[in-house]
Amino acid sequence: MRHPAGLVTDPAYLRHAPGSWPESPERLRAVLGRFASSRVHERAQLIPARRATDRELRRIHHEEYLRRLEVLAGRGGDYLDPDTVVTAESYEVAKLAAGGCLAAVDAAFSESGPRTSLCLVRPPGHHAFPRRGTGFCLLNNVAIAAAHALEEHDVERVLIVDWDVHHGNGTETIFYDRRDVLYLSVHQSPLYPGTGGLADTGEAEGQGYNVNLPLPPGAGDADSLAAFDRLFLPIARAYRPQLVLVSSGHDGHFADPLGSMCCTASGYHQLAARMRALAEEFAGGRLIAVLEGGYHEEALGWCLLAVFDAMAGLGMERGDVPGAPSQEAGPSPEAAHRIAQAVAIHAPGWPCLGN
Ligand SMILES: [Zn+2]
Repeated sequence: MRHPAGLVTDPAYLRHAPGSWPESPERLRAVLGRFASSRVHERAQLIPARRATDRELRRIHHEEYLRRLEVLAGRGGDYLDPDTVVTAESYEVAKLAAGGCLAAVDAAFSESGPRTSLCLVRPPGHHAFPRRGTGFCLLNNVAIAAAHALEEHDVERVLIVDWDVHHGNGTETIFYDRRDVLYLSVHQSPLYPGTGGLADTGEAEGQGYNVNLPLPPGAGDADSLAAFDRLFLPIARAYRPQLVLVSSGHDGHFADPLGSMCCTASGYHQLAARMRALAEEFAGGRLIAVLEGGYHEEALGWCLLAVFDAMAGLGMERGDVPGAPSQEAGPSPEAAHRIAQAVAIHAPGWPCLGN
């Protein structure tokens, strides 16, 4: 029987171990434990990770930055910035994380591989720039995957949706002047890294192809869902993506120690189900979600299980950490205001938004 969804992970992803740090191997260990308890392997096709080649990395990152990572790792490691550590193993692990995403892309475009896959990789990627790593990120996994699809799989339009609680400043910067990649980010503001404003809409060829929705602290499932239904999905449908990539960070969960949003595993299931429907409609079902942040270990496990099941077309019948705040039926006035502002800003370029 062909499995409906693929899963990429590798024990080597635990070997990037920066010490006592929020972005720790324990995060992934907890997720793998949750997936084992829920017997995910019985409904997933395991896709072996591979190491991304220098040529594949150089589509996004500058050679001198790659050599710097190599040298720092060779010396036993160092800080790239106060948040971002390279250990002796980190560069090899990061290449395997990027390559795991490439394996998922290749499977999605193959005859027999799963069209949709969840990549449980680390270190994360969306704060990585062409010439520097920041915010726990070394290589921009999602950007490397998008560039690979554009170059190797005869694709002209890739959509990246980023629902990590932090704005993906690296990903935005990489594609800011391009229209072959549409970047949609919902994130908390104010919060690290301080970017992701409503008015940052892209430039040159990419004008209008960068859509930010900063939500206030305390925003929850109803706010995120409204952002998707009123802003992101109309634009995404008009774009007609041939591949959908998701930066699947779950630090917007109510229990997360780094974010102040109130999302639940159920909310992420609903977002992922919308992504599956979008991919089915336009991209031949090609949908790949890649782990980014999420620092409450138990919550991260439940959220990613919910995302995996939604991607596989399965319902939400799992659990979540106790103590979820009550969820509103619709967006808060503040969130609705920001969504309306974003719609007004983008409506001239995206007539589908009406107004
Ligand atoms: Zn994050």
